[in-house]
Amino acid sequence: RIVNPLAKGDSTFRTIDELAKTDAVAADLYHSYGQSTAKKWGGWFKKLGGLFLRMLQMVAVPLIITSLLTGILGLGGADGVGRMFRRTILYYLATSMLAITTGLVVVNIVRPGLTGNAIAANRVEAKEAASLGEILFQQLEAMIPSNPIGALVEPNFLSIIAFTIAFGLFTLSVGGATGQRVENAAKAGFDVMMAMTTAIIKLAPAGVFFLIAYVTATQGAGVFKSLGWYVLAVTIALAIHACITLPLILKFVAKQSPIAFAKAMTPALLTAFSSASSNGTLPLTMSSVENRAGISNETGSFVLPLGATINMDGTALYEAIAVLFIAQLHYGQNLPLTQQIIVAITALLASVGAAGIPHAGLVMMVIILQAVGLPVEMQGIILAVDRVLDMARTSVNVWSDSCGCAVVERLENGK
Ligand code: ASP
Repeated sequence: RIVNPLAKGDSTFRTIDELAKTDAVAADLYHSYGQSTAKKWGGWFKKLGGLFLRMLQMVAVPLIITSLLTGILGLGGADGVGRMFRRTILYYLATSMLAITTGLVVVNIVRPGLTGNAIAANRVEAKEAASLGEILFQQLEAMIPSNPIGALVEPNFLSIIAFTIAFGLFTLSVGGATGQRVENAAKAGFDVMMAMTTAIIKLAPAGVFFLIAYVTATQGAGVFKSLGWYVLAVTIALAIHACITLPLILKFVAKQSPIAFAKAMTPALLTAFSSASSNGTLPLTMSSVENRAGISNETGSFVLPLGATINMDGTALYEAIAVLFIAQLHYGQNLPLTQQIIVAITALLASVGAAGIPHAGLVMMVIILQAVGLPVEMQGIILAVDRVLDMARTSVNVWSDSCGCAVVERLENGK
């Protein structure tokens, strides 16, 4: 039997023949190929699209580790633990959490996965409500793997990220020839993983085609309506963060005119939009910050390379909305608050671990889906619209890094 979370009016599962009575696309498939053929094709589409998702999962662990390590080790010895470092990290965490909160509020209001009268096809008993304290403690526990190799094998992303950050910081404190060797190895690994991920991402159009075909054949075309609302929700939330939250921080903390600053950053923001890569935009971000916005090289060359890897407000916000959207489609209801808090924490870590290359956010989403127990295949639904959202979120990532320069510069000058 085929599950249709968008079936109207009741909460029972629908088979393709029931669906064909109410849904035009399913009806087409049904009439032109017959019921068993549609089912068979649906199965093959899922398998072929699944290969693409497997490849994304394949690169996730090594990509996170090498990307995080190069980001942290790039800070270099003594500077890395200084005041500027702490201020930069504080800015990154604060703005990423603000972005995630904005995303969660918008997705709870717009409810993209519950439009089109989605009904709880997979209604599950909400997991026993744990208290907030317990939830936070569980996350803390997960960050301390009793066996880091076990965490790699499982894979437990929270443990992996926490251990990698610790490993990076201790490599910095050991320094010397050892530090250099670890840094070289991490860089080499990162270059290879970037190349591998970029090659896999080239297969995205085929992967998207198969997964969309599968979703349409099994869930009906109604899913596209929800997808439209999802794009709208991400766009609204990104706009709030980029046009209200960050400008307020610029104005009141960095004492800069947001409009003048945005004008200065235009070349970098446009490049981020068209390339969907913070890393690729980095040279331009650095030159715009220094030559057009008048930030010192000392601040720019410290804040920006680190930010391109670990400060991704747009990605964090997008991850939160995407996972809540998938949960709405899957369960036919919003995730309970405690689960949303887990989404917020893991979205922050996923955005920290994401490399600044196109679609990296998609690769990282596995972490969050895993944390709240959602099926990874459901990612297939959002693949079709990922590129355009990637362009938007990458611009917000670069915008936030740039604003970070202004904030840190101001704080450093004021001491
Ligand atoms: N493309 C984004 C970036 O480079 C990362 C992501 O996929 O969210 O900033």
